[in-house]
Amino acid sequence: MVLEKCPHVGGTSYIFHRKGHVFPMGPLAFSFPQKVKTLLAEAGLTQETEFRRNHFELLAPGLDVVCSRPLKALGEDLAGSFPAEKNGIEAFFCEIEGIIRLTEDIEEWHPDFLTGARKIAARKDRDPDLLGRLERIRRLSETHSKNVLEGLVSDGRLKNLLGSLGTDGPEMSMLNLAFMWNVMSEVGIWSPACGIHGLADALAEVFMARGGDIRLSTPAAGILTKEGRASGVTTADGEVLRSRWVVSTADYKTTFLDLLPAGDAPPQHFDLVRKVPYTGSELCVYLGVDKRCVDLTRMRADHVFTRREIRAGGSFNPEDFANREVEICLWAQDAPGLVPDGRASILLRTAFPYDLLAAWRTGEKLRRHGYQEFKTRLARGLVETAEHILPGLSSSIEVLEVATPLTYQDWGHRRLGSIAGWTWSADKAGEFPGKLLVETPVPNLLTAGIYAATELFLGGVPTALYTGTIAARLILDR
Ligand SMILES: Cc1cc2nc3c(=O)[nH]c(=O)nc-3n(C[C@H](O)[C@H](O)[C@H](O)COP(=O)(O)OP(=O)(O)OC[C@H]3O[C@@H](n4cnc5c(N)ncnc54)[C@H](O)[C@@H]3O)c2cc1C
Repeated sequence: MVLEKCPHVGGTSYIFHRKGHVFPMGPLAFSFPQKVKTLLAEAGLTQETEFRRNHFELLAPGLDVVCSRPLKALGEDLAGSFPAEKNGIEAFFCEIEGIIRLTEDIEEWHPDFLTGARKIAARKDRDPDLLGRLERIRRLSETHSKNVLEGLVSDGRLKNLLGSLGTDGPEMSMLNLAFMWNVMSEVGIWSPACGIHGLADALAEVFMARGGDIRLSTPAAGILTKEGRASGVTTADGEVLRSRWVVSTADYKTTFLDLLPAGDAPPQHFDLVRKVPYTGSELCVYLGVDKRCVDLTRMRADHVFTRREIRAGGSFNPEDFANREVEICLWAQDAPGLVPDGRASILLRTAFPYDLLAAWRTGEKLRRHGYQEFKTRLARGLVETAEHILPGLSSSIEVLEVATPLTYQDWGHRRLGSIAGWTWSADKAGEFPGKLLVETPVPNLLTAGIYAATELFLGGVPTALYTGTIAARLILDR
């Protein structure tokens, strides 16, 4: 049985409709399509899913690069633009390529990514080659990319591009950074032809056909335990549902801090769950535009990450979008049925702190008077910034919708509107004992979804699918 708080399946991997435009609630595209196909087949999907690669461009003062190309070609282009840095660029990408080779299929052999009997066996394995790889991985996850780049390149713009794939300073460990470059440049980021929601619909169909029961608009309000083991859930309506296993896809903090009774897991675990932060949230403006009125020719890729100015220091002004990275996405260009004829769907997204909006929230889906005007003002500011890349944008708009961190909290059901799993920062992560959090300290309680892994080692959607598969295998193996 699946209890789903939303009135639809798929969670944030779904769509909503506005005046003929079909917009994504969350994910736009994802990596590792082959692995996704395998996971879907294992879940019983028989139809073949086609994928289209998305491309990504960075457009900032002194930089215009399409990053979604093989590292070798990208390295040569960058060396052309920064001749004095040629050796550093080569050395950096050589290091990244080595890590990519080392971590290929890491989820198949590294004990931190395994569960059950396979984890125990991998931990006991004394094979010198395996031990060497484990040691290298450990060191890479503790090596801050900032320190590596300091020794290799001197241009600040280049350092940021190589270290964050954008205009911000490097934050990630070398292990995480190599993962990001692998996804961006080598494996690619792809969208399924059936739409991301199409995958959720197909999975739900298979599940129902095999006798599964999906209850939509039915939030779980609490996890029940008996003698220390998970034994079922209560719904928001007070119904008690007993079961041998509970798999929570509510985010991990919500699962432990809101749904599980305090005292049902060791206090140290609760402390850790409280202490390690999640990734932040974002502001997203959805636009339906008349194609004839906007000039899209500056966009060399489906996704353009742009920053108009790079100003250091100063206090954070939420309405100053010029000094921030903004993603412009030309959404679903080739997907029939998602965009009306003669129109285009454009998404503008930028990181946005939850705290700056928290005071507007008076309860679940409740806002203080004036919130609508405030978020429309934020949206207009974002449009104005994007207009420097897309002349005519503001006068082409026929549909405008805005999602804020509060939207992701109340409609996405993510704690503090978090977008992309646990923190990616090398300084704050790494306190959990392994990379998979599917097995929990509470017997018979498992978790699945992006917060069931401390790192998105396959990216968002594939990690969510993978952890779901791991949870299913753990149950079936008992
Ligand atoms: C704005 C945004 C953009 C993103 N972009 C990308 C992207 O481009 N690529 C990518 O790979 N990933 C992206 N992600 C991450 C993306 O959300 C995940 O990859 C994927 O949807 C994660 O699936 P999940 O099952 O872990 O979480 P969710 O999609 O959040 O699903 C969790 C489900 O649990 C339900 N739930 C929560 N609490 C309860 C409860 N108490 N009772 C019953 N049901 C409950 C929710 O309603 C939801 O259906 C994005 C996320 C957001 C929010």
